[in-house]
Amino acid sequence: MSSPSQNYDVIVAGGGIVGTACALACAQAGLHVALVERDIIGGGATAAGMGHIVVMDDSEAQFGLTRRSQQLWHTLAETLPRNAEFETTGTIWVAADQEELAEAERKHVYLQQRSVPSQMLSPGELAMAEPNLRDGLAGGLLVSEDAVVYPPVVALHLARELQAIGSELILGRSIVHFATGEAHLDDGTCLRAPRLVNALGAEAIACTSNIPVKKRKGHLAITDRYSGFVRHQLVELGYLKSAHSVTTDSVAFNVQPRKTGQILIGSSRQYGNDDSRVDQAILSSMLQRAQFYMPRIAALNIIRVWTGFRAATPDKLPLIGPVPGDPSLWLATGHEGLGITTALASAELLACEFSGTVPPISPTPYLPARFDLASSANTPMHQETV
Ligand SMILES: Cc1cc2nc3c(=O)[nH]c(=O)nc-3n(C[C@H](O)[C@H](O)[C@H](O)COP(=O)(O)OP(=O)(O)OC[C@H]3O[C@@H](n4cnc5c(N)ncnc54)[C@H](O)[C@@H]3O)c2cc1C
Repeated sequence: MSSPSQNYDVIVAGGGIVGTACALACAQAGLHVALVERDIIGGGATAAGMGHIVVMDDSEAQFGLTRRSQQLWHTLAETLPRNAEFETTGTIWVAADQEELAEAERKHVYLQQRSVPSQMLSPGELAMAEPNLRDGLAGGLLVSEDAVVYPPVVALHLARELQAIGSELILGRSIVHFATGEAHLDDGTCLRAPRLVNALGAEAIACTSNIPVKKRKGHLAITDRYSGFVRHQLVELGYLKSAHSVTTDSVAFNVQPRKTGQILIGSSRQYGNDDSRVDQAILSSMLQRAQFYMPRIAALNIIRVWTGFRAATPDKLPLIGPVPGDPSLWLATGHEGLGITTALASAELLACEFSGTVPPISPTPYLPARFDLASSANTPMHQETV
């Protein structure tokens, strides 16, 4: 690493998918950027995540960010290296009963109204599309432009692009604290810029203490290679109920085919558990859930299991924008379980703000100022229902 210069237009803290995307978008807008990562690029939640690029519709704001970002992903995919494993698998939302089928139909209408291709599947069509699902399911919804990707490779690719256009990557250094227009590193260096971006994911609170971000632990497992066993990203519609619960541990059937032939099996959500070790009870209930939907998955060989931490906010929307009270400090965090999906649109919003360009979607729903940051450290996380 060359010795960093001290003055930049923008300093981005955190080299996950969000930080690398923000840094590159700012550099491509003509700004001189420093990206600071304490460890390796893409080694945080970005390496732990599933890489499902999915349009979600819990709110108009969530839809707007996920859909815009998905469009940006499809454009980026054309330039990604093969080992980024980008593939437009589509998602099938699996309905176990008539109540979930009604939810699939509601989702279908919502997506159709917004020009997102989707198709209802009868039980027979579902079985044809995914022969390893169990019998007796009520049907499903195929959302064909959803995709999967291997996120840490993309983060590294974005960081290399950043360097290639003359901005700086500062690796192996931690941000210790921010002051107005200053990022202080653990070796005593002070970097200066009129814009500082905290993109530290679930660790963001360590450098900006008054933001409503909490860690939400998740487990994933990956199998050996079984090409064709799963063809689409499969998610149970019950996932929507469990993903919204913020008071209890939850698991849901959520499996993903990788280009390698491996199958990624998820997922779990836990609050108030900052221990990164695998929790055997949660893991076993997650695998049982997968077997409930795909009985033959029990015969597959799991080769690795890991955990990671999502950065959760009370309203399930990320924090993208300035921190009230400090004109230099901006946030790009709180992406919870959608940070791979929404990284590119988050970066676009920031770069548009910094370069004075009108963004394609409104930044307002994601602004940190929607929370009372003076007291938000103690704001209770509210529970939502589908
Ligand atoms: C189990 C699981 C499954 C998921 N599945 C999906 C999915 O299918 N689709 C999806 O869209 N999202 C998914 N997510 C969410 C997604 O992984 C995250 O939202 C996303 O990776 C967040 O990226 P980030 O860049 O904000 O954070 P991170 O990737 O955590 O990056 C933050 C970086 O900051 C660095 N850092 C921390 N502190 C400092 C410091 N003081 N100084 C310098 N550097 C520092 C860290 O080393 C890290 O590299 C999943 C998450 C989990 C845990």
